[in-house]
Formats: sequence, structure tokens, C-alpha cells
Amino acid sequence: MRRPMVAGNWKMHGSRAVNQGLLEELQSRVSEAWPIDVAVCPPFVYLTEVMRQLEGDLIAVGAQNVSAEAPGAFTGEVAAAMLADIGCTLVIVGHSERRRLYGEDDTLVARKFVAAQTAGLTPILCVGETLEERDAGQTEGVVARQLDAVLRTSGAKALGKAILAYEPVWAIGTGRNATPAQAQAVHQFLRSRISAQDAKIAAQLRILYGGSVKAANAAELFANPDVDGGLIGGASLNADEFQRICAAAAAPAVAGARR
Ligand code: PEP
Repeated sequence: MRRPMVAGNWKMHGSRAVNQGLLEELQSRVSEAWPIDVAVCPPFVYLTEVMRQLEGDLIAVGAQNVSAEAPGAFTGEVAAAMLADIGCTLVIVGHSERRRLYGEDDTLVARKFVAAQTAGLTPILCVGETLEERDAGQTEGVVARQLDAVLRTSGAKALGKAILAYEPVWAIGTGRNATPAQAQAVHQFLRSRISAQDAKIAAQLRILYGGSVKAANAAELFANPDVDGGLIGGASLNADEFQRICAAAAAPAVAGARR
């Protein structure tokens, strides 16, 4: 059974006061009875404080990025070992904003994936196509290329300790989510590509959908058999929305579909 997961990517948002208020609200709303994993990914500078506030809580904490390098002379970078050292357990790698705005290519993302796992972190590997690529019929080719870079470097077994996120670039922060059918088609494609190398790992791998998920569309997206929850940007900054998205992932129909 794949346990659904909902992870909030706060991007470059928040302040000490805002984070504290958001987490207090979340802590009172996220139910222990929900058969899902919940995580938040704040900016680096707030990680320690967020972890302190969430100590003993159900909500896990992840980083949004990590260096591919081991600790050393890399000004401004944060090593995976440092994230592990402060108790962080998850890290997003290959988010489309990193790929697009900071020039991270497939090779660098694959190296970050390795660095994260070497330090004992669970990478959340993001893949997704642009609108131009979708319109040109290249969606499968693009996500396959992004996935294959990691498979080549780390092997399919490495996905046993990772999470995959399909995030179409055109859906991120645009208010235009993929339809449930579009999401399911790409998730199924990704799972079958991994299955060709290791069926057991593919069957166990959680594949999250990200891109304009809201409380209003979460249930229909998560009801798909290969959609195991969501990576949530904007809506994760609102406790009520985020809680309702988590509740959608925890609904018996969604959790049951993965048994
Ligand atoms: C994201 O940043 O990963 C994301 C999916 O953003 P949003 O939910 O705002 O589209």
C-alpha cells in the first residue's frame, strides 16, 4: 500500500511570525487519525525554528533545495549533510523554478538526488513539462528524460527511498491545474517506465501531483490510482486550504485505492 502524502512548498514566503501562526493553525488541524504523511518545506533560514515548533508533531520538515557538493568552499550553498545534521528528513530536488530560473539541468538534479540520499535525506524529485512542450506532444519525452537522468545515475532501486512529483510547469502558480486525466496519464507513464526496470519499486513509489492544487480540486486529482497525494505551493500558505487538501488525501476512497 502506498501511503498518500501532502507536502507544502512555501517557496520564498514567510517570516518568523507568519510561520509560527501558520504552524499553530496546522498543528491544531492535522489529524493523527489521517493515514497520510504531511510535510512542510520552508525556506532554509526558518528550517530550525520550524522543526523546533513541530518537535514531536506529525508534520515532517523538508528543504526546498540542496547543494550537489559535499561540505567545502561553496559560498552560499547548503550541503545535504547540514540538512541532515539539523534533523531535516526531506528535500525537494529539480523543482521547475530551480531548473528554469537557476539553470539546473538534468545532470545537476541527478547529482543533487545522490547528495541528498548519501546524507540520508529523502529526495522529492520533481519532473514536468512546459506548455510549449505539452502542445508539441513532448510531455512523455520530457519527463522521461528528467527521470532517466536520475535512473542512470542512481538506478531504479534508489527510488525506493525517494518520492517523485509530477509538476507540469504550466500548472505551477497559474491557477490552471492539470485535469485528473492528464495527471493520471503522466503518473501512469512514469510508474510504468520505472516498472520496466524494477516493478516492486515502481509499485511502492509515491508519485505526487503538483500544480495549482486547491481544496476545491484536490479530491478529484487524488482519486486517480497513480496520484499519491500532492506537492502544494500557494495553497500550503493557508492553513484552512492546506488542511482541506490533506483531508482529501486522507479520504477513505483515496487511501483505500492504494491498498
Ligand atoms: C509548487 O511550487 O511546487 C507548486 C505546485 O505550486 P502551486 O501549488 O502554487 O501551483
